[in-house]
Amino acid sequence: MIDLHAHTTASDGSLTPRQLVERAARQGVKALAITDHDTLDGLAEAFSAGQEFGVEIVPGLEISAEFPIGTMHILGYYIDTESQLLLENLAMLRQARNTRNPRIIKKLQELGLDITLAEVEEVAGGEVVGRPHFARVMIAKGYVQTANEAFEKYLAKGAPAYFDKARLDPQVALEVIKKAGGVSVLAHPYQLKTKSNEELTKIIADLKMMGLDGLEVIYSRHSTQQVADYQALAQHYDLLVTGGSDFHGVTKPDIEVGIGLGQLVIPPVLLDHVKACAHHHKQILSQ
Ligand code: AMP
Ligand code: ZN
Ligand code: FE
Ligand code: FE
Repeated sequence: MIDLHAHTTASDGSLTPRQLVERAARQGVKALAITDHDTLDGLAEAFSAGQEFGVEIVPGLEISAEFPIGTMHILGYYIDTESQLLLENLAMLRQARNTRNPRIIKKLQELGLDITLAEVEEVAGGEVVGRPHFARVMIAKGYVQTANEAFEKYLAKGAPAYFDKARLDPQVALEVIKKAGGVSVLAHPYQLKTKSNEELTKIIADLKMMGLDGLEVIYSRHSTQQVADYQALAQHYDLLVTGGSDFHGVTKPDIEVGIGLGQLVIPPVLLDHVKACAHHHKQILSQ
């Protein structure tokens, strides 16, 4: 069993990298990608825990890209963690959070909630502060029962305390990953919220032209139909197929590492293809 999408306390997951790797080992996960939002901070600890618990760690990250309708997230695997271009862009994305977050707090306070940025930052612990951390404080204070309710009532796009933050242009996100020798994968395509398969096809075609390497076909919240559609798209555009749970711990309590909602099956051979692609990119970079 493998899992190519999981979050730690370095971003908005609730387990430390070591706790996550230990849990993955207990679930029987043989290879695990750490894909925190906008940071590489969890990787070093994950690698040493990988040694300790016998789990192969795949270095990764998840970048927020600009997209008008829904959410566009781009995963990067086997990136050079010393790439200055990558590190600068990630610092910019974290700064964009630090610009947005006080606005969310102000709005929540106006709506009558007793909540401070210091409380949210304390829950976050690390350098990436995201909406799931707001949700956790709101749950702790009894304003909502679940993270999902916090998003629906306050934090999601269209809800009263939603504020946009600067993201990377998709082309830039793909370039940054490529120049860091990494493999780029469009995460959870259903979250783009495209109106039709035609529209999705066009977006995938555009991204492919910009250098996209793969599609996250297998995902906790993809229906059987979605998996089939995305699989066909990946095949048509000669994209790698990947799969991951998007495990976050307490903010997505129904999702378990390795198995998602219980139904995930991610063939280990998919990781072999990702590795071959990364190897190829690194060869080109070194020429
Ligand atoms: P942010 O990065 O601060 O914009 O927050 C977005 C993150 O919140 C996503 O990447 C998800 O991990 C998480 N998220 C989005 N919607 C929900 C939801 N309904 N319940 C729990 N977590 C969510
Ligand atoms: Zn997240
Ligand atoms: Fe995501
Ligand atoms: Fe994710």
